[in-house]
Amino acid sequence: MKKIDLVLGLRCNSDCGFCFAHDDAVAEPPRAAILSLLDAGQARGYEAVCVSGGEPTISPLLPWVLDECRRRGLAVRLITNGFRLADPDYAADLLARGVSRLQFSLHGCDEKTVDRVNRRRGAFAQQRRALEALAARRPPVDLEVNCVITTDNVRALFGYVPFLLRHGVRRLTLSHLVASRDVAPELVPTLEESAAAARRVLAEAERTPLFVQAIHFPVCALSEWAERVTNHFYVDDQLLTNEEARVRRHHDDLRAHLLRAPQCDPCPHSGRRCAGFWRAPPAPSPLAVVS
Ligand code: SF4
Repeated sequence: MKKIDLVLGLRCNSDCGFCFAHDDAVAEPPRAAILSLLDAGQARGYEAVCVSGGEPTISPLLPWVLDECRRRGLAVRLITNGFRLADPDYAADLLARGVSRLQFSLHGCDEKTVDRVNRRRGAFAQQRRALEALAARRPPVDLEVNCVITTDNVRALFGYVPFLLRHGVRRLTLSHLVASRDVAPELVPTLEESAAAARRVLAEAERTPLFVQAIHFPVCALSEWAERVTNHFYVDDQLLTNEEARVRRHHDDLRAHLLRAPQCDPCPHSGRRCAGFWRAPPAPSPLAVVS
């Protein structure tokens, strides 16, 4: 479905080391700019809005945005780290204002791992409380999870599938971390490690109600799961965003790290479906190791 991508500022209450969309200097856009984005999207026939950030739940404008979307009949998907949804009153208020889909960024299923990825003590406890409260709601909330695979969690995803199923999650996206400009190089796992972790999760979720897809993997790295691999390198008519320059910069940055191997030329996946392998992160300098 065509969606309007509304970035509600780039402030965040977490500090993930891989995030390209975190900048405490960038507050939410003015209301007039949000209204004209919604107008433009509706004029183009878009029927849904994806609200993200930064972390959208720390924006005081979020309740107003949700009310405005509901008034216009636009479906809302909210991308969040979920910390604030540990407060049941806050969560109930957001859902009552018409959030139809929640996407949590949840990068593991134990305290040590999740707190380390978020670089925030208490992150996992808050996310788990939020998930438990949402799982108990009736009718069930449409809940999906995004997990970025880094060196901090690549060996810690055992038990992730049952954890998500217990909390009512029905869709999971596993993202391979690419060594782009905004990412700390030490967080980037090797493709082999990352693919092995993804393969384990995909296999564990088979024949369960959890649908798993993988992004930013070369298709051949997960060849037995090729139909579950998707890659997004294009801003096109599916996306209307108030942060187009940032999204384009990120996509250009990803493309700059692509590496076409000789086997890519005859490969049937080559092209829009798969753009190739990724360059490895630069090795740390001896000086950086010493410091
Ligand atoms: S295009 Fe290259 S990286 Fe992608 S699946 Fe084919 S061989 Fe692998």
